[in-house]
Amino acid sequence: MGHHLTAGQRALLEAALLQRQHQLDARLAEHHQGLTRAEHAADLREQDNDDAPQRETERELDLAISDRETTELGAVSAALRRLRADDYGICRSCGCDIPFDRLKAEPWALRCVDCESRMEAGRRSA
Ligand SMILES: [Zn+2]
Repeated sequence: MGHHLTAGQRALLEAALLQRQHQLDARLAEHHQGLTRAEHAADLREQDNDDAPQRETERELDLAISDRETTELGAVSAALRRLRADDYGICRSCGCDIPFDRLKAEPWALRCVDCESRMEAGRRSA
């Protein structure tokens, strides 16, 4: 099972995942620094509350972005683990082989296109 991918294809996907992991790591580190600086600036201006609502929004936006990046980083790491454990590229929902073209576009994909769009539709109607 899970061997519909050639060794070359797996190597290519692993490289893509590692690159993405590295990118997200760097971006989260940057983000964390930015947040720390923003907090420090907020401390310095504590007596001045005029721009507080705007600061809140920026902070929330910042947190939302790093939330998404953290989630994606989790998905990327999980895909790397699956790749090494040899259960990579199999649809979680229907058990079919996820086509290489889809994995190339989204190496951390957990489901085939059919199951994924069914999931999305379910999420929207919920
Ligand atoms: Zn499926």
